[in-house]
Amino acid sequence: MTNNYFKTYPDSKGFFGNYGGSFIPPELQKEMDSITAAYHSISKSHNFIAELRSIRKHFQGRPTPVYFCNRLSDKYGGRIYLKREDLNHSGAHKLNHCMGEALLAKHLGKKKLIAETGAGQHGVALATAAAYFGLECEIHMGEVDIAKEHPNVVRMEILGAKVIPVSHGLKTLKEAVDSAFQAYLKDPITSIYCIGSVVGPHPFPLMVRDFQRVVGIEAKEQYFNMTGEQPDHVVACVGGGSNAMGIFSAYLEVESVAIYGVEPAGRSLNYGEHAATMTKGKPGTIHGFKCYLLQDETGAPAPVYSVASGLDYPGVGPEHSLLNDLKRVNYVTATDEEAIDAFFELSRLEGIIPALESAHAVAFALKLAKANPQESILVNLSGRGDKDIDFIMETYGLPENRK
Ligand SMILES: *Cc1c(COP(=O)(O)O)cnc(C)c1O
Repeated sequence: MTNNYFKTYPDSKGFFGNYGGSFIPPELQKEMDSITAAYHSISKSHNFIAELRSIRKHFQGRPTPVYFCNRLSDKYGGRIYLKREDLNHSGAHKLNHCMGEALLAKHLGKKKLIAETGAGQHGVALATAAAYFGLECEIHMGEVDIAKEHPNVVRMEILGAKVIPVSHGLKTLKEAVDSAFQAYLKDPITSIYCIGSVVGPHPFPLMVRDFQRVVGIEAKEQYFNMTGEQPDHVVACVGGGSNAMGIFSAYLEVESVAIYGVEPAGRSLNYGEHAATMTKGKPGTIHGFKCYLLQDETGAPAPVYSVASGLDYPGVGPEHSLLNDLKRVNYVTATDEEAIDAFFELSRLEGIIPALESAHAVAFALKLAKANPQESILVNLSGRGDKDIDFIMETYGLPENRK
């Protein structure tokens, strides 16, 4: 690992080693180039930094705490700590980058935010940011997802966003991305596209990573103040990889810290039954950037599955792809079953109901704790689980009723 990591990656074309870049139509490239230029100048201005700081504190409720899990550590061994992104306003880390993207939109004089959403989490966070800034918000969502994720559709509408149903193809996330891109291309002057993770063409993986760094900056200082040392292990779940980049970024250059990205192993590691991109994928291109990609025999994105809808993406952020090749981050997996068990363990031993996505990170941390009873583990708890409780009760039920 170089000491100049953040100066070296990404390069000026948005490449993290072999990954990332920008593979999009020329008319879209022009817009991305102007967003890149604007981001580089505006994000360093005093006004922008001061306004974002104030939003973090007074609107989002940051800093979120770092919490020591007493009973969980007693039962599993090790010393398990959580960075509580579930306590961030709107219940997950996603608002960290949505507020940043919307603030940039305001500085650029844009009137409308456009995005896609799968399960609706990104849509709700962006609609929240749009309401804060008084911007219009248009969220493209597959009809299948609209039927499945009714509460999030209602939330977006209450927040004043317009939800655009997408009715072609499989009517899920991939088609929603296509539809949102088309809407953006029709009106790139007054609108801006806001992506939901550290994915997509340059500069999004860089921009979203930078907006999420607040998680790692806070956590590193809080953890050190609590313990006088660095954690032995840092763990986060990886869908596109934004919450993970947020916390990992603070520890990449601290060599003593082992870092783990947890991907969903779903029902099994057989084709179509998981979204373990690093474990089973190989380099390819999706949504305008290069990364590890789960592919079918033609090289197209493979069908993916996870019990956590925020994790079922066939690609992964380009920076994670690089960190995998550099062997700085260990990419591991947790199954649906392990995540469900961890969901109940954390709920019942600590009084914290985690998002199913975050439960994947907790599941792996519990294994790590058992194997390393003398060591400390800092887990990024990316979100709260309220959105998942109906699904879990209908599909699994309480642990004592399952045997
Ligand atoms: C969306 C989401 C994720 C996955 O996204 P990343 O970009 O990988 O962080 C994880 N946890 C929660 C709570 C989410 O809403």
